[in-house]
Amino acid sequence: AIDQAREAGLFGSELAGVSSGFDIEIRRGQGAYICGEETALFNSIEGYRGEPRQKPPFPTTHGLFGKPTVVNNVETLFNVLLVARHGGAAFAETGLGASTGTRLFCLSGDVARPGIYEHPMGVTLRDVLDEAGVEGELQAVLLGGAAGSFVGPDQLDVPMTFEDTRSAGLSLGSGVVMAFNATRNMTEVSRRIAEFFRDESCGQCVPCRVGTVRIEEALARARSNGGLEVDLIADLDLAMKDASICGLGHTAATAIRSAVDLGLVAT
Ligand code: SF4
Repeated sequence: AIDQAREAGLFGSELAGVSSGFDIEIRRGQGAYICGEETALFNSIEGYRGEPRQKPPFPTTHGLFGKPTVVNNVETLFNVLLVARHGGAAFAETGLGASTGTRLFCLSGDVARPGIYEHPMGVTLRDVLDEAGVEGELQAVLLGGAAGSFVGPDQLDVPMTFEDTRSAGLSLGSGVVMAFNATRNMTEVSRRIAEFFRDESCGQCVPCRVGTVRIEEALARARSNGGLEVDLIADLDLAMKDASICGLGHTAATAIRSAVDLGLVAT
């Protein structure tokens, strides 16, 4: 599509006779989770290790190659197109309250029809799950991805808006909705999440580099011996939230602590 647009003269130094620097170039990432953090993404594109930068300065003044930079995902840019084409009022007719438009949800886990679903903001988690068809008796849902939170079967009627999820102590995050039925060992699922963060920590700062390892070790002990060291996990979470450089360290224990709170992990 980019090649076709360039051939049609829609990109480049001149657009319809007007001087313009508008162009699009796609850079393919190599799969590092941390490169979803905006400043790690800049470092990666610039050819350095994908490690987050200290903020401030913020990307709006010192971003990619030191230039002011706006960072948005494709879902947001697509919504901008609708607003530009139809106006803000028309866009806001879909959604609930201050959370307008639609939202993409990525359904996975114990569902019959996994995939990407688009729903109006404000849809309930129950409706999102029903569309994909939960297989078996639902035990919990991981909402928002590995950095999100587990939700119990009694919380499925929370409207999926930024405001309602925040006041319920949840986060829409990346839009991940991963269902776990009653056959799943949630201690092992929690350990697997901890292992993921242990692997994906860029290692730049001590609280996250060491904390993610210690949490994974604690969950491995709980899997083998039973009995999770809840106070140790809480201490590590606090240290990582207080002293980590970026959001990966701030949220690495969030899902695990929510699993503990819901009684999903044997303590
Ligand atoms: Fe790297 Fe983790 Fe520190 Fe973020 S919090 S900079 S991922 S070590």
